[in-house]
Amino acid sequence: MPSSRLNSLILALPKAELHVHLEGSMQPKTLLLLAERNGIDLGCADEEGVRAMYRYRDFPHFLALYGTLTSVLRRPEDFQLITHELGMEAARQGTRYLEVTFSPATHYRNKSIAVDEMMDAIAEGAQAVLQEVGVEMRFIPDHVREYGQEFCQLTAEWCVQGRDRGVVALGLGGGEQGRPASLFADAIHWVQAQGMPFVPHAGEAVGPEGVWDALQFNPPRIGHGVRAAEDPELVDYLCEKRIVLEVCPTSNIRTGCVASWNEHPLRRLWDAGVLLTINSDDPPMFNTTLLDEYRVAVTQFGFTADDLARLSMNAARASLLPAEKREQLVETFKRGYKRRSARMDCPCQRASSPCRDHQSDKSILLHLTPIALSTSCNIGVGSEIGTPFSSPYLAPIPLIVLIGRGEPTPYFQSCKNTLSFSSTCVPSMGCSSIAGEYLLAGAVRPSASAIART
Ligand SMILES: [Zn+2]
Repeated sequence: MPSSRLNSLILALPKAELHVHLEGSMQPKTLLLLAERNGIDLGCADEEGVRAMYRYRDFPHFLALYGTLTSVLRRPEDFQLITHELGMEAARQGTRYLEVTFSPATHYRNKSIAVDEMMDAIAEGAQAVLQEVGVEMRFIPDHVREYGQEFCQLTAEWCVQGRDRGVVALGLGGGEQGRPASLFADAIHWVQAQGMPFVPHAGEAVGPEGVWDALQFNPPRIGHGVRAAEDPELVDYLCEKRIVLEVCPTSNIRTGCVASWNEHPLRRLWDAGVLLTINSDDPPMFNTTLLDEYRVAVTQFGFTADDLARLSMNAARASLLPAEKREQLVETFKRGYKRRSARMDCPCQRASSPCRDHQSDKSILLHLTPIALSTSCNIGVGSEIGTPFSSPYLAPIPLIVLIGRGEPTPYFQSCKNTLSFSSTCVPSMGCSSIAGEYLLAGAVRPSASAIART
């Protein structure tokens, strides 16, 4: 598949991400901004320096750097900012739902930040994202294993208190070596008794024994879990119990948990029938995005377009939303796949010129709300995806997009917020167009399907 086709297919696929860290999602420019604002010396002054800092020797080195990075977060508004940035970036990638891990104890213990204020700020950031781009965010405060049992209980209590602000589970992160989940059994049992699931990292730095240990708490999902592949009995168990793994391929390579793409067990686990999802973990720190991770599934592991759809559906089904909301998400994904396959089946995809059915002199007017467009967004008038576009048209809402060959009528010509796409195809008819790609990706949303034909 040509890479441009693969890119637009992945962008258009409705996606959910279940394993991404709030602190590890800070973009280099935000990291530098917060460091400067809060008077923290990072030891580097520009984005190039941040990228150089992100070259890890091994897993302990990565964890040490994580500490440096989190030190820039000082005030509640810092958390609001990075939550908002993460949600907006997700929208640009066609992600509809996020479960975001963060480590409250790191900020409370090391910097005396009030957890209540931090959670309020995060919830406000998420609310703004929902209003602006329609992406839903939920949160998983994780216990950092190094902090000991007392902090695990405290984090469990914060989780329960944060339920009204989108907290859906207790997580477990940090250095796995010598610190199995069972060390924190009391807090885990306590949080579960409050009706809150436990979703630990396991089987990342430690082998199958780390996963077996975590499984005694019946987690619905395991963060990473890739080293389960070393134990056939464990692989069978994961399949039988339908436990979902949150696989973060690039993260595993960058932290050195897996030595090379050839050795990465993603394909073996998939072929064995384990329920897998694809995630980005700490995207800027690993120089990746969720789109890149889906791309890797194709380029490194030979996944097909249908496999990618199954991966993304696994994530929607494994979300920790209440049953009714989860079903809604699953239905949204199904509709997204239908539109995608209709589009893939359209003869226009195979012909150099549009088919007669879809060749129309009529313009279709769509009122589109540019929910995730910015001046850096890759969209252009009559151009291919990939052409940088900046336009004064993007600021006002609603954005009106004309799709079709017909000349805009004088009314539309007089509309300031009109973009005319040169494509002859209409996305609702299953054709490919730039606007259609963005519609399918959820980057723009029609306020009505087709408002008027001219
Ligand atoms: Zn993680």
